[in-house]
Amino acid sequence: MSSVDEIKARLDILDIVSEDVQLKKSGRHYMGYCPFHNNTRSPAFAVFPESGTWKCFGACADGGDIFSYVMKKNGWDFKEALTQLAARAGVTLEKLSPEQAQRKSLEEEQTELLEAAADYFHQLYLYAPQAKHAREYIAGRELTDETVSTFKIGFGLNAWDALRSHFMNQGYSEQDLLDAGLLTENTDKGTTYDRFRNRIIIPIKDHNGRTVGFGARTLEKDGIPKYLNSPQTGLFDKSRILFGLDASKRFIREARQAVIVEGYMDVIMAWQGGFRNVVAQMGTALTRDQLQLLKKYTKRFVIALDADAAGVNATMRSLTVARETLDRDSEIRFDPSGLVREESRLSADIRIASIPEGEDPDSIIRNDPAEWAKLIGGAKPVVEYVTSVLIEQMPIDDPKNKSTIAQQVIPMILDINDPLERDHYWQFLARTLQVEERSLRQLNIKQQRKNSGQRPVVQAKSKQPAMPEPPPTIDGRPNGGIPDPTQRTKRRETEFLGRCAHNPLLIRQVNKILSDNGQAILHAQDFSIQIDREIFLLINNKQSSGEVATSGQMWDSLDEVLAERLKVISKETINSDKKPSRSLALSVLQWRAEKKKQLLTEFQQMLRTAKFNGENQSLEALAQQVESLSVEIKEIDHAKMGISSRSKHRYAHKW
Ligand SMILES: [Zn+2]
Repeated sequence: MSSVDEIKARLDILDIVSEDVQLKKSGRHYMGYCPFHNNTRSPAFAVFPESGTWKCFGACADGGDIFSYVMKKNGWDFKEALTQLAARAGVTLEKLSPEQAQRKSLEEEQTELLEAAADYFHQLYLYAPQAKHAREYIAGRELTDETVSTFKIGFGLNAWDALRSHFMNQGYSEQDLLDAGLLTENTDKGTTYDRFRNRIIIPIKDHNGRTVGFGARTLEKDGIPKYLNSPQTGLFDKSRILFGLDASKRFIREARQAVIVEGYMDVIMAWQGGFRNVVAQMGTALTRDQLQLLKKYTKRFVIALDADAAGVNATMRSLTVARETLDRDSEIRFDPSGLVREESRLSADIRIASIPEGEDPDSIIRNDPAEWAKLIGGAKPVVEYVTSVLIEQMPIDDPKNKSTIAQQVIPMILDINDPLERDHYWQFLARTLQVEERSLRQLNIKQQRKNSGQRPVVQAKSKQPAMPEPPPTIDGRPNGGIPDPTQRTKRRETEFLGRCAHNPLLIRQVNKILSDNGQAILHAQDFSIQIDREIFLLINNKQSSGEVATSGQMWDSLDEVLAERLKVISKETINSDKKPSRSLALSVLQWRAEKKKQLLTEFQQMLRTAKFNGENQSLEALAQQVESLSVEIKEIDHAKMGISSRSKHRYAHKW
C-alpha cells in the first residue's frame, strides 16, 4: 500500500473535519456549515465517510479528499499536508531513491553552509570595527536592533579573502564555497575571491525558512551594482523565491491578503512598521512560479511597486503574468442575443496601490505608517489602474487609441467575479473613454466570436441575463470536487494522467479540443483525489512553461510519493489509441458528465428533503442548482457529440 493510501486508511476524515466543523448525519453522509465560505443559512458542506471525500455545495464549490481538506484549511502545500498527516497517522514516509537522497543531502549541506555564512556576516555587522559605517548606514535608515536581528542583517568585509579563509579553516573546500555562491571565480587567472565585499548583507530564505542565498547592498557611493545577489544555484533561483514569505505567510493567511513590493528594504521596513503580510518579488516583474507559491496562502493581492517608469512596466507585466497564472472560474452567461456561453472569471482579486512619485514603501512607512495603511486600503482595482496607464501612453483624443485601450481593458473587466462590480467597470470604461457602453459591449462580443471562431454553445430558453444576486453556485469551478467518484471515473482520470505523463503535450491538445467545443479547459479540480491533482499540476506546469522534459527528467524531479503514484498510474495505462487527444478529450467530458450527474441526483434529493421539511429559504437556490446542472450536462453532451462526429468525419474522409 502506498503511503498516501495508508494515511487515508488510518485516518478518519470525519475526525479531521469535526475539529473545525460541527457535522450532523444525514443519510449516508454528514452535513455542516462550510468552513471555507461565509455559510450560515443552510449547511452546504458534506462529508462522505465511505469514500473519504468532502464537498461544498455552496459558494466555494470545492471538494476533494482528506489531503485537499487540510491543504485548504491550513494553506499547506501537498508536501506539508503529507508530512503532517503522516505524523498524525503514524505512517513513516518511505525512503528516497539514491539520486533523490543524494540531492537532498547536498542541498542540506549547502543550506547549512549558507546559514553559517549568514551568522558570520551578522556577527561582523554587530561587532567588527570595520563595520562601523555599515551600522551607521542602517541607523540612518532607522532600522531597530530588533529588526536587524529578526532579518539577521549582516556585513561583508572589504577584503578579497576574508570569508574564503574563514570557511576553509573550518574545513569547507573552495568548491563548496563556489557552489554556494559565496565566492566568485576569476576564470582567466583560475583564482577565487569573496563575492560580497563592503556590503550590507541580507539573507534570503525560501518559503520554508531555509537560507538559500543573499542580497547585498553596496556601501560605496555610486557602487555598482547597487544590489548584488547570490548567483543562481540549485537552491537559489530568483524567479522561484519571494523575499519575506517564510515569515509573512502566516500573516498573509490571517489578513487574507498579500502585499507585493519591490525590494528587501520595503519588506523589512513594512515588518518593522507592523505590516507583516508583505513580500518582495526578486526581479523586475512577478513570475508564474512566484504567483503559484503565493496563491497557496491567499487569492487577494495588492501590488505596490514604485511609481517610476520601471515600476509601471513591472506592474503591467506582473498583471499579465497574474492573469495567465491564476485560477479561473467558469460561469454560464447569457449574451444579449439570448445565447449561452461560458466565460471564465479570475478567482483572485488583484489591486494596485499607487505609490506617489519619488517615494517607495520604505520611505512612506518610515515617515508615516498610517499613510501606508491608507495606500493599501485604497488600492485600485486593476481595470482603473491599467486604463489610467494606457491613457497616459495613448491619449484618447485619437479615436483609434480608444479602441486599442478598450481591447486591452475589456478582458480584465470580464475577469471580475462580482457581476455588480463588473457592470460598474463597463460604465467606468465607457465614461473614461467617452464612448457608449453599448459599443464597448459589442466590441467585446465581436472579439469573442473572433477568438473562439465559433458560435455560442446552446440556445437559451426564455431566461433573463445572469442575476446580480449570486445564489450559492456549484459551478464555481468547472468540476469542483465530487461526492464519491465511481470506479469508472477514477479509471478514466488515472488513464488520462498516465497518457499525459508520457506525453505532456497531450494536455495542450486536449485543452484545444475542449475549448473549441465550448468546454472549460482542464483544471486540477477535474481530478478526484489530491495526489492526482498534484501530478496533473506538475505535468501541466511543465508543458505550459514550454520546458521539454523527457519522462526520465520528470521522474527525477518528482517527490518520492508522487513518483510512486505515477508509477501505479503508468502501469495501468495501456497505450493503444492512435488518436489519443480526441479520445482523451471525450474521456474528460465523460467523467465530467458522470460527476455532474451524480451531483444532480444529490441535489434533487436535497430539494425533495427541503420541500418535505418546508425549508423554503433553500428551495429556490437548490432549484437553481438543479437547473444549471442540467444545462451543464446538456452542454457537455453537446460537446461530446461535436467531438465524436468530427472524428468520424475525418475517419471517413481518410478512407
Ligand atoms: Zn464552501
